[in-house]
Amino acid sequence: MDHKAILNRLKLCIQLLELHEENPFKIRSYQGGLNALERLDGDLMELSEQELAKVPGIGKSILEAIQSLKSSGSFSTLDALLEQTPTGVLEILQVKGLGPKKVQVVWKELGITSTHELMEACQSGKVAQTKGFGEKTQETIIQNLLFKASTSGKWLYADIEETILALAAQLQQGLPKAQVRVVGDFARRMEILTEGEFLIASEDLVATKSSLIQVEGIVWDKPNSGPMTWRGKLTDPELQLVCHFCKEAELVCKELLFVASKAHLSSWITEEETVGEKIRKSTLASEADFFDQNNLQFIPREMREGMGEVELAKAGMLPRLLENSDLKGILHNHSTYSDGKHTLRQMAEYCKGLGYDYLGISDHSRTASYAGGLEIEKVAKQQAEIDALNQELAPFRIFKGIESDILPDGSLDYPAEVLRSFDFIVSSVHSVLNMELKRATDRLLTAIHNPYTTILGHPTGRLLLRREGYPIDHKAIIDACAEKQVVIEINANPWRLDLDWRWVRYAMEQGVMLSINPDAHEMEGYADMQYGVWIGRKGGLTKELTLNALSGMEITSYFEKRKANS
Ligand SMILES: [Zn+2]
Ligand SMILES: [Zn+2]
Repeated sequence: MDHKAILNRLKLCIQLLELHEENPFKIRSYQGGLNALERLDGDLMELSEQELAKVPGIGKSILEAIQSLKSSGSFSTLDALLEQTPTGVLEILQVKGLGPKKVQVVWKELGITSTHELMEACQSGKVAQTKGFGEKTQETIIQNLLFKASTSGKWLYADIEETILALAAQLQQGLPKAQVRVVGDFARRMEILTEGEFLIASEDLVATKSSLIQVEGIVWDKPNSGPMTWRGKLTDPELQLVCHFCKEAELVCKELLFVASKAHLSSWITEEETVGEKIRKSTLASEADFFDQNNLQFIPREMREGMGEVELAKAGMLPRLLENSDLKGILHNHSTYSDGKHTLRQMAEYCKGLGYDYLGISDHSRTASYAGGLEIEKVAKQQAEIDALNQELAPFRIFKGIESDILPDGSLDYPAEVLRSFDFIVSSVHSVLNMELKRATDRLLTAIHNPYTTILGHPTGRLLLRREGYPIDHKAIIDACAEKQVVIEINANPWRLDLDWRWVRYAMEQGVMLSINPDAHEMEGYADMQYGVWIGRKGGLTKELTLNALSGMEITSYFEKRKANS
């Protein structure tokens, strides 16, 4: 159990209390405790029982629950509730858009106890006829069920990263003489993973296999395993696993083969052989050897996707990719002025402490009332505070920004005189997400043509594995950004990673700058920039075309020039 897992168990408990119509006071007390934990600074695993008891909002029952979760992974209230709930109903509870109240109706009134039955009831129109549901809700449930089916077994890179690395370390520890490598999609930093893939080089296959089985929580899928490939799964969290075995002398070759995507390998077919055959025949001391031997530039792992990188490497045209150390500042961040967790000062001092030259604050604009969007007076107050902080923290600089909602007609959220007061504006869509292609594209195009837009924020609004973005004509959007010199954000939040990396190259070819923005809502959120850098690298992003790789001086004059032209 870690901090996040404990919060998730408590959330589940609250849902189940509501589902079983337990005492509202009990529900409220758990909810209050959960809210307090969510506001907590730092890791709850590091707090003692006494320290936790002092946190306002944490009552006796939730304190006991936390202690029990810490020691045994569960607690009695939750166990009892789980006992009374069919597994299928638990699954229905995870379907988006269906709160515990609706699930209760589905279960108790319609007698549905699985997602499969729920789908059938929706398709026959039975759900729409039930009180409190209607056609629209039924359609939403169908869409969410389809989406859930298409995402089952999939993991967000950031959510499974630690598990995969820990497993690799555990395997390595159990096999001190072997060499364990993580390969597959993980090694290429794919945004979504369906399995953990490992390569184990050792001279003792028998010992290797028995060491695998000894890892706690691993189940062997014997029928689908072969002599040199082991398949199975990790049970908690549930993750498909595959392990390839090889001799030590083959390690580099096999690693090249298992890191690359299929498309990358098949894009290499030469007159006489495929690259797979070529790699298998080679004797290599390092990955770089292979590229050298074939007169190719070294292709970084993230880029081995079969998206034209081999041609670039042949022509010697692969650029030097962006690195973490190239980033000089952090743009698009929220503070307590809107829905952030930390104050403007905390956000600034932490950013400075990390060694960056500047911070761009862009809290939500006034229409985003659900996220504490800023009324005009509050904008002025924030800007005055920024001026004072800039005096104090110089040469570090805070830029005055806003994340302006793009309203349904494409316009921005303040009158021109307010828009003019910002150093930069991130324009993003947050509401009325249900749009078809033309409407969504036109809405963004209007915002791009607005002279106050500096950066287009999370262009499709997608939340990976949670909701599909609205469809947009990527080419038209990128072309317009090129024409209007609008920067496109790579939102580095692991749920977004939007602009999608598959469009980075096209944007760069049109001369569009990109910005790696963490969209941080707390100080620790800055760390998400790493995911944005990896995604940028997958698309071939360079420092030269990255907005926040500009130095403090450079970006100051960049913003000033843009403002003068608006
Ligand atoms: Zn946003
Ligand atoms: Zn934001």
